Amino acid sequence: MSQVQLKNIKKSYGNYVALKNIDIDIGLGSFFTLLGPSGCGKTTLLRAIAGFHRQDSGEIYVGEKSIGQLPANKRNVGMVFQDYAVFPHLSVFDNVAFGLVQQKVPAAQVKERVAAILKTVHLAQHAERMPHQLSGGQQQRVGLARALVIRPKVLLMDEPLSNLDAKLRIDLRRDIRQLQQEFGITTVYVTHDQEEALAISDQVCVMYDGWAQQVGSPWAIYNQPANRFVATFVGSNNFMPVAVRSDGELELLGTRLPAPPAVREHASASCVGAVRPEKVRVNQALAGPGVQVRGVLRQSMFTGRELQLTVEVEGHGTLDALTAPDEAIVAIKPGHELQLGIQASDVLYFAEGETGKLLS
Ligand code: ATP
Repeated sequence: MSQVQLKNIKKSYGNYVALKNIDIDIGLGSFFTLLGPSGCGKTTLLRAIAGFHRQDSGEIYVGEKSIGQLPANKRNVGMVFQDYAVFPHLSVFDNVAFGLVQQKVPAAQVKERVAAILKTVHLAQHAERMPHQLSGGQQQRVGLARALVIRPKVLLMDEPLSNLDAKLRIDLRRDIRQLQQEFGITTVYVTHDQEEALAISDQVCVMYDGWAQQVGSPWAIYNQPANRFVATFVGSNNFMPVAVRSDGELELLGTRLPAPPAVREHASASCVGAVRPEKVRVNQALAGPGVQVRGVLRQSMFTGRELQLTVEVEGHGTLDALTAPDEAIVAIKPGHELQLGIQASDVLYFAEGETGKLLS
């Protein structure tokens, strides 16, 4: 069942079209993330849902209700901002109570609800502190508590973790996900961090150039990227030119392989193959049909958990490989040869171009 529906949303700033035609359904109780590079339109879309600005055309529904023309304070949405946006002259308690006081909720209830939510976000012992006495992570918990305490139908979050250091980001994202699941609150979350988006979301919408390029589960976005942009932006990939032959085969890294039907039917003599670095096998036999090439190690980085290799394959440029740490491979020095293997079943094929669609 959908809780938020965005129907044909368009928005321009002067001549610049920031949202081209956004059509998205967000399920009740789900954690939905807008992911994309800077300038792709994420914040513009989130602010249209919040009511901070109006879309030029299209409609926004929360449940059955059309909210696209309502002022922001009548939309029953909570918002958490990147820069915390806490009131510096109000205590933690008063910051969180603010929305309830505005709604003229009786004082006894305000006290009870604020105390309960502060406990939930682990700030009960800091209720009387002023914002400048809090860390960035604690200030963002105040922002979260303030948004949740009004019991909104939808929670909107605009890069809420981007001002925090790496460790705190991971801790707080766990807490946000746990709270969201506990409250069952439909959440629309904006980030440009693809790992964060995969980790936290039920559904991810990858945006680029004012378009939703793909909406899907983190698994689908990573494993079946709808087009080359998604495959580039989410995780890493080795892209390789592919010649499509008229005899039903294709040529990848100098090796002929049977062309999948969609590649054969693709009306072009060339396309692009993609393989994730973690699928490239190093000095290992292949379990099925595929490509094996020799290459020269150019760089090797051992990070403890994994081993990142850059290998030059003569005539075909460099390929990245990511393997589990292996002492024998760690010992190989740059300039020495090794063997790379790619199973045919691990290769995805895309049409040419920045947003060339997934063929197979
Ligand atoms: P970021 O991750 O950098 O915040 P974003 O994906 O949220 O990026 P938006 O803030 O939605 O991007 O902006 C989308 C595009 O619209 C950008 O190219 C931006 O320069 C442009 N834009 C945003 N606000 C305005 C404005 N008020 N006037 C003119 N152009 C704007």
